[in-house]
Amino acid sequence: MSVTTESAAARATVHGYPRQGQQRELKKAIEGYWKGRVTPDALNATAGDLRRTHWRQLADAGVHEVPTGDFSYYDHVLDTTVMVGAIPGRHRAAVAADALDGYFAMARGTQEVAPLEMTKWFDTNYHYLVPELGPDTVFAADSTKQVTELKEALALGLSARPVLVGPVTYLLLAKPAPGVTAGFDPLTLLDRLLPVYAEVLADLRAAGAEWVQLDEPALVQDRTPAELGAAERACRGLGVLTDRPKLLVAGYFDRLGDALPVLAKAPIEGLAIDFTETAAANLDALAAVGGLPGKRLVAGVVNGRNVWVNDLEKSLATLGTLLGLADRVDVSTSCSLLHVPLDAAAEHDIEPQILRWLSFARQKTAEVVTLARGLTHGTEAIAPSLAANRADLASRAASPLTHDAAVRARTSTVTDSDARRSKPYAERTTAQQARLALPLLPTTTVGSFPQTTELRTARADLRAARIDTAGYEERVRNEIREVVAFQEKTGLDVLVHGEAERNDMVQYFAEQLTGCLVTQHGWVQSYGTRYVRPPILAGDISRPEPMTVRWTTYAQSLTSRPVKGMLTGPVTMLAWSFVRDDQPLPDTARQMALALRDEVADLEAAGTSVIQVDEPALRETLPLRAADRAAYLEWATEAFRLTTSGVRPDTQIHTHMCYAEFGDIVEAIDDLDADVISLEAARSHMQVARELAAHGYPREAGPGVYDIHSPRVPSAAETAELLRTGLGAIPPERLWVNPDCGLKTRGWPETRSALENMVAAARTVRREVSAS
Ligand code: GLN
Ligand code: ZN
Repeated sequence: MSVTTESAAARATVHGYPRQGQQRELKKAIEGYWKGRVTPDALNATAGDLRRTHWRQLADAGVHEVPTGDFSYYDHVLDTTVMVGAIPGRHRAAVAADALDGYFAMARGTQEVAPLEMTKWFDTNYHYLVPELGPDTVFAADSTKQVTELKEALALGLSARPVLVGPVTYLLLAKPAPGVTAGFDPLTLLDRLLPVYAEVLADLRAAGAEWVQLDEPALVQDRTPAELGAAERACRGLGVLTDRPKLLVAGYFDRLGDALPVLAKAPIEGLAIDFTETAAANLDALAAVGGLPGKRLVAGVVNGRNVWVNDLEKSLATLGTLLGLADRVDVSTSCSLLHVPLDAAAEHDIEPQILRWLSFARQKTAEVVTLARGLTHGTEAIAPSLAANRADLASRAASPLTHDAAVRARTSTVTDSDARRSKPYAERTTAQQARLALPLLPTTTVGSFPQTTELRTARADLRAARIDTAGYEERVRNEIREVVAFQEKTGLDVLVHGEAERNDMVQYFAEQLTGCLVTQHGWVQSYGTRYVRPPILAGDISRPEPMTVRWTTYAQSLTSRPVKGMLTGPVTMLAWSFVRDDQPLPDTARQMALALRDEVADLEAAGTSVIQVDEPALRETLPLRAADRAAYLEWATEAFRLTTSGVRPDTQIHTHMCYAEFGDIVEAIDDLDADVISLEAARSHMQVARELAAHGYPREAGPGVYDIHSPRVPSAAETAELLRTGLGAIPPERLWVNPDCGLKTRGWPETRSALENMVAAARTVRREVSAS
């Protein structure tokens, strides 16, 4: 075999890069534009500068081929909707009047029109805007954004590869437009969509693209033969085109499974595959199809969605195995670096030794480049990097932070009975009823009350040392007093303290737990201009001291009604953090559960009779492949029960989840064995109550009667009607009355009215029930 050194050299690339900039310049420019303080030209200039800065960062680090088109003002799926011309009817006028304002109208809605629905991008914490399609959808190509950004990168003298959401994933992520029957399958539009992609590809070719990447992550989920057939047709339809760039199809976040043979046979020139967590499955599948002769393989060996330093030797071994399996092997991240913060070097509060274990976008880029060099020139060429990497991995493995003997001893002695309440629900409910003496249809809230400007100011004042801790805590106590007084006056039955002390329901706990790191600049895009700083669960987890007890007991000291203790559950703590990759997730969950169990015990000992452990993320962390779900639900529900099962029978355990579709995990919800669950239901008109009933859910439930996502205040009559519907599914002894979720994003005026109406509705329906 004679290959020139040129073609044998492995190229380094990434699938995408964080968009916001080190100082979150993009967020500031966009929000400034929304407020009318930044002109469209200034916004475009900021965006262009950021793109160029990021491409230069990549090129300077040694990346051979930079991605383009992955940048976005809001979301790359929305950009795709614009690219294929699938503008929903209600937004067409706005888009025609002004493309940029129309774009933001689709993303955020206006006074007159609702935005596109937003949902999670696979199992990440990034949210995309759901395309709305119907049988009448007419696609039309608009390659402007893709072409412009490609030209910008080429103008810098860089080799660039446009990245597009692939046609199959685009359709699989879409939903029927309003007014279209729910049975409509967007995939039936494939034949209409392909010519539009063909046009965009031709435009990109004309603009100088040698390669174009089509992202098809939907193919790592379980797919029907029809869906795989669509993938095959899409590749064939685009593959036969003559005027097009070479096509690289990317599947990431899980194993490709049955989609791999389809893609391997397809008339495309390259495949990008995730060789991180599912490396073994993808390697086997690749070997089974006889590799990718004649194709380019872009090997995602650097995890694009965790924050840990790569094991370079292990990645080199994987790359070595791949060498014989494709025409050429290039090195990449597994997915876009959108899901990680920009630069670990910006963290000055993390111990230098621990910082060396961390790898954010810039560090991951360097890893990809090092690996490409090692693959091309041999390990000697990267010997110093390998030695440093080995030392970092060794320091992580040997650190007391990752190996706390006390934590390990405790987790290893957990028994099944630790994760079981001492009495069955039937006995618990009698004991709880005796202790709490609640009316039928008891009223409560989900936990948080409005996060007022005063509270945010107080936190900013504390950070800037304008007030001391004592001053800050005084302001929090003032807030708690108001929240408790309001609830007493309004007549709620089970009160909350309002969570005024919490910046965030995960970070607040992470800051107090040993083994968790918080970052100063580790911002990651959640959606649009909303960025979050997920904590990093870096070591063995324990709780040095109580985290919430004084706030709950302070609130309880102000009232004779029960005040709920309020905790974030173990699964949600993990789901909204970066989790360690050096031990199985169930082990981390168990450590977290035991730390939270201590808090539950302390709350109970302090006299708290009702304790709520929130698990809003239980469903969203469900594995992408059905085959992996049972194992996940097993450890997830065990972690919840381990957190909550140490209490007396007469201590009432609540949980809360906020999503409307949970049909597929209703058994797991039952398995939590919580005494009471509150759920989102207002927008689905009590559908969840019927689903619970259909499953025979045996305990108490509060399907939400107030949609907290909207500023709208439901009337007492309307709320009562929802309760009557709820009673059709859940008997009065087991039906609770509460909003859909916490009130922290709402203002006080609407909160006040909505809760007053809610209590009035509960009283009305209570009377009806007693009368009948
Ligand atoms: N207790 C939390 C709150 O009320 C729950 C939030 C959530 O479910 N996301 O804000
Ligand atoms: Zn919620």
